[in-house]
Amino acid sequence: HADLALYQAKNCGRNALQFFNHHLKHKVTLELQLEEELRQALISDGGLLLHYQPILDLRSGDVTKLEALLRWQHPRLGLLSPDRFLGIAEANGFITELDAWVLRRACADLAGLVAQGHAELRVAVNCSALDLSHDDLPSIVATALEGAGLRPQNLELEVTENALMSSVNQALGLLQRIRELGVSISIDDFGTGYSSLAYLKRLPLDTLKIDRSFLFDIPGSEADGEIVHAIIGMAHILRLQVVAEGVESAEQLAFLRGLGCDFIQGYLFSRPLPLEQLADFLAGPDASVQALAAC
Ligand code: C2E
Ligand code: MG
Ligand code: MG
Ligand code: MG
Repeated sequence: HADLALYQAKNCGRNALQFFNHHLKHKVTLELQLEEELRQALISDGGLLLHYQPILDLRSGDVTKLEALLRWQHPRLGLLSPDRFLGIAEANGFITELDAWVLRRACADLAGLVAQGHAELRVAVNCSALDLSHDDLPSIVATALEGAGLRPQNLELEVTENALMSSVNQALGLLQRIRELGVSISIDDFGTGYSSLAYLKRLPLDTLKIDRSFLFDIPGSEADGEIVHAIIGMAHILRLQVVAEGVESAEQLAFLRGLGCDFIQGYLFSRPLPLEQLADFLAGPDASVQALAAC
């Protein structure tokens, strides 16, 4: 809209330029308001919530992991995805507070599930690149675990490939300290950044998540199929387990199984779910899901 307004402004003279200014002001005001509302949601612990997406272990056919995905129930705009508001928190210096909130919430929720008998279940929490520039990330993680009474084996941190590679040396030290706590680390959105094998070998990682852009055209694209094949092979040589993200079709599942992929995550198996629905899902997946897990 802004581009169109600018175009019109350029072509129609002063009145249109005023219109453009007005439009821009409106947009800036809206963003400022969102920023303020997001801060308030965080401080008052109202409106932010987590959905959990089950991750299926292809060998056992069990859900052994969940990914915690942040949502914001906005009073006027409805349920917002992270893409709509994470940038605001990053640009205004409170992404680490936001991620700390997610860690506490996720650890507390998982402690509840452990108490219900899911003792080995693990929750994966996303980290922003900026979190890796904070020296106190390991203590934030430790505090969240202690506060919830959760064992470190039940927690995993997801760090994107780009975040890791933008400051490898700092990330290396931080992740080592986090891993010494007993928490696992996974590299997220793999294939979209610029990892070198030398770094991958040095980083204290447990799991590699193949970005879903490589899955889109499978089984149609032979090239993407070969790439996924190569990533799985490389990950296994480095002793990393592999999660394929964004699995939406039975054909993709069959393909991944054939390549020895360890886990799948995607709409085929389950969408991200609110905690209450997740508890039902874990208690007894419906027949179609069971058939999928077994196939
Ligand atoms: P991500 O970590 O790669 O998470 C996976 C995203 O893929 C999620 O989007 C999930 O809903 C979506 N997804 C899962 N299966 C499928 C599928 O089969 N098809 C398609 N099309 N999509 C699928 P979501 O929840 O919108 O999150 C987007 C991104 O926001 C995440 O990507 C992550 O980078 C970031 N994010 C989410 N929660 C947090 C958080 O608490 N903290 C931080 N720093 N980032 C977060
Ligand atoms: Mg993730
Ligand atoms: Mg990802
Ligand atoms: Mg992603």
